[in-house]
Amino acid sequence: MDGVIESEEMHYEGNCIRPPSEANSILLQVTLGCSHNKCTFCGTYQGKRFAIKDEKTILGDILFAAKYMRRQDRVFLMDGDALVIPQKRLLWILEHIQENLPWVKRVGAYANTKSIRMKSPDELVALKEKGVTILYVGVESGDEETLKAIRKGTSGQNLINMGRKVKDAGIKLSVTVLLGIAGRERSLVHAKATGELLSAIDPDYVGALTVMLIPGTPLYEEYEKGLFHLPDEKGLLLELREMIAHTHLTRGLFFSNHASNYLPIKARLPRGKQDALDVIDYALKGGVSLRPEWMRAL
Ligand code: SF4
Repeated sequence: MDGVIESEEMHYEGNCIRPPSEANSILLQVTLGCSHNKCTFCGTYQGKRFAIKDEKTILGDILFAAKYMRRQDRVFLMDGDALVIPQKRLLWILEHIQENLPWVKRVGAYANTKSIRMKSPDELVALKEKGVTILYVGVESGDEETLKAIRKGTSGQNLINMGRKVKDAGIKLSVTVLLGIAGRERSLVHAKATGELLSAIDPDYVGALTVMLIPGTPLYEEYEKGLFHLPDEKGLLLELREMIAHTHLTRGLFFSNHASNYLPIKARLPRGKQDALDVIDYALKGGVSLRPEWMRAL
């Protein structure tokens, strides 16, 4: 391709995030920002206008990775919602990854219900055949009231349908849920509804993060005005307990080991459920030291 933008580094723009499990992946930024960008708690892409990056820049980065990243066998497509890229263009990107980085075994990306809806079941299968074997979806809550309050732009039923659509295409599904996002009063309602939603989706991986209040976000403003109250440490543990108690997965991993959490848990469900509940009960009795506030991070 004429005019490919080759350089001595990858072309990253603005704030870039990736799931913890993609820490060693080649991070290929194919979009800027998030196509939704309205969730009240999220400050990740504030001020970043959503765009799909041009083909020359993307190809330049793939060629850079081909030269310098030969030991990394996973690619993660950033930013917030790479699945929203039209199918033809996405296949073009995946084909260039396969051609230039033949050692790559897995491609992952964030997705949301809107971008999954845009793909037909056959298109998802085609993406899988071109290397996309895992998608990450922010579920946050199974409670309709909470989903509306945080402006997630989707419903529980949508999350179930789209989550199952990903799985039916043979693509692994990793979802995140947010502890504390429903505030103090709705904490246990959110926990139970989220566990039930997770059971209906039956994802391969669940990551439970604790909501962090980010200055500049609508949720932070609500907090400052006294309209939003985060549960305390005990409340968050009870929420986690209720969520796990209502989560029935055929075969999946439930993590709460993100740095934002007070108590790291890693349970293989269904087998490890009782052990996880026992650890939480022990922590509630003061038997386990929780991650100190200063060590918690996004
Ligand atoms: S939480 Fe995800 S979907 Fe919501 S605005 Fe942030 S990046 Fe976009």
